[in-house]
Amino acid sequence: MSKCKKCEAPGTIVLRKKDLYCDSCFLNNINHKFRSVIGKNKILSKNENILLCLSGGTASTTLMDMVHYGISLDSHKKLRVNPYALHIIGPGNEDNVQVANSVIKSCKHYGFDLYIIHIAEYVHDCTSLIKNVNAMPETDSISSNTFNEILNGMPPTAQNDFILKVKQNLYVKCAKELSCKFIFTAETTTTLAINLLSNLTVGRGSQVQNDIGFCDKRDKEVTILRPMKEISKEELNQYISIKKIMPVHNCNMLDNSLQSVISTFVTDLQENFQSTVSSVCKTADKIGVHDDSKYDSRCVLCKNVFNNSGSKISALEATVYSRLVSSKKREDNNEFHDNSLIEQTSLSMFPYINKNLCYGCSRIYSEMTLCDLPDVVKVHLQMSDKSK
Ligand SMILES: [Zn+2]
Ligand SMILES: [Zn+2]
Repeated sequence: MSKCKKCEAPGTIVLRKKDLYCDSCFLNNINHKFRSVIGKNKILSKNENILLCLSGGTASTTLMDMVHYGISLDSHKKLRVNPYALHIIGPGNEDNVQVANSVIKSCKHYGFDLYIIHIAEYVHDCTSLIKNVNAMPETDSISSNTFNEILNGMPPTAQNDFILKVKQNLYVKCAKELSCKFIFTAETTTTLAINLLSNLTVGRGSQVQNDIGFCDKRDKEVTILRPMKEISKEELNQYISIKKIMPVHNCNMLDNSLQSVISTFVTDLQENFQSTVSSVCKTADKIGVHDDSKYDSRCVLCKNVFNNSGSKISALEATVYSRLVSSKKREDNNEFHDNSLIEQTSLSMFPYINKNLCYGCSRIYSEMTLCDLPDVVKVHLQMSDKSK
């Protein structure tokens, strides 16, 4: 039998179709990747409160296991953090209660307190989301119906994107309530590669830094960290099979969406070209990091700064320009260079753009057919604003 790459033991795990490891070297390697991402960024101080966001899926269940392992160590490698756990229920389907109950069970197993909220809480601008610990929240059917109506009024791609933004908002809000300055989310390098390409297709190219990088600093008080960003889906699957972790499967991504097509594309390509995901992520790392903390005007939905930078034409201007060109006669050619006309057209095509919503979120808004935005967003939009 062939030997492990790192020691003399027989190899039990094959990664990337060629690298052989024994269980123990594999686990060491994964834990090292997890710790070094946190360590090299030097962002956490000792005994920091962190909020673990748990969906019940493979990645977040593994994240919980790794944090638990890290804080149980007795050496200099001990992870010095105080974890709190959060599970967001929904949207939609019936097995949500079952998923939430399983998450409660696994948190109990690790000895973490779990706070559970419903995603539909987002529709109200309520001050307190967290009601009790280690128990299911009461269901508020009015909020659920409103939230479902909002979702049903959007095409699947916009729904996926909207749900992601809503969850980020709720994570940050709960973190503040629990006095956590940091949030751990469980995106693997595979998920991040899919998210990067999805971001580009839904017009969020300028937001890649916060959406794909280790640190998401869109909020002034709470930072979202992605400590699993160097771990691939393949490694994750090996990890859960060695540790006999049983995640509750709940893939929330809707079929027939751009995100699901991209996910299949990346996964299939990775199967035959083992460096697909790492190449995509390395490209993302090369996209310049710029400090946007000094900007105050941000999108009310996704909290990104507006992208009106520089002289290069943006996706928005390009879309508006082509709309103008296709709707005007050729003689009016000069009008295409009239900035106020471009601005007017962009506002009619993309409501609230660059005033309250970024390009990506305004596109979601423009694709909502049946319903209006949730209260929490409306409050900030100042509905009297005639710019709609
Ligand atoms: Zn070994
Ligand atoms: Zn936005």
